[in-house]
Amino acid sequence: LKGHWYHKKEFSALAPLSFSVESNKTLAIVGETGSGKSTLAKILVGAESPSSGKIFLNGQQLHKQQLKQRCQHIRMIFQDSGTTLNPSLTVLQLLDEPLKLNTNLNESQRRQLIRQTLQKVGLLGDHMNFYPHMFSGGQKQRISLARAIILQPQVIILDEALAALDPSLRSQMINLLLDLQQQMGLAYILISHNLGIVRHFSDQVMVMCQGEVVERGDTLEVMQNPTHKVTKKLMMSQN
Ligand code: ATP
Ligand code: MG
Repeated sequence: LKGHWYHKKEFSALAPLSFSVESNKTLAIVGETGSGKSTLAKILVGAESPSSGKIFLNGQQLHKQQLKQRCQHIRMIFQDSGTTLNPSLTVLQLLDEPLKLNTNLNESQRRQLIRQTLQKVGLLGDHMNFYPHMFSGGQKQRISLARAIILQPQVIILDEALAALDPSLRSQMINLLLDLQQQMGLAYILISHNLGIVRHFSDQVMVMCQGEVVERGDTLEVMQNPTHKVTKKLMMSQN
């Protein structure tokens, strides 16, 4: 990826960067507010187009025309995903939407897949006819997760996805995410300000500052032995 400019090229939110993330692994992206983490995430899911540069998935370049495909392979959940679920749709309809758009499954196949997916995220089949307002915050986040995994993506980006949850719900959600990672061979990109979560959850970490990657490596190594001043500052701020 060769960079990204907002404000008609007056300001570059991302410098050239490249990275990879493997199946069954979690790459954490950390950095101060405004360092470009969400911009990178939006580019990866196709919500923003990079001003220049290329994105490869499994060695194949992704083109704009392949946006639909990319949505299937790379999904994103963010902090308020749960609250942005369309309130006028039932869980069944919410989960049916991506299936209708992206697959040729018939109605009974879709229903079966929806049931299985709800089970995977710890919700019951009975919940299918409920509307979002009938769920707690943690349950809504699970519905967003169900929507993210139903097309069996390869990569899920979690942009502060755990930030709004209280500690006990957060650890339930982490365990669920780790289970799903094993079951489905998912690669996670975890964007978080919480270094405790990063330490617990990620294999590799990438530190960003002003749109640039300033340090990267195995999570424990980077956390125990930060070399860049930005990383050191981040570690200090949470100790
Ligand atoms: P945080 O940790 O606060 O979520 P972040 O690392 O995700 O921060 P980004 O949201 O990627 O940061 O923002 C990077 C920079 O790009 C910031 O300076 C921000 O003000 C700017 N920016 C983000 N989105 C836009 C936009 N749509 N238009 C113009 N500038 C933007
Ligand atoms: Mg952000």
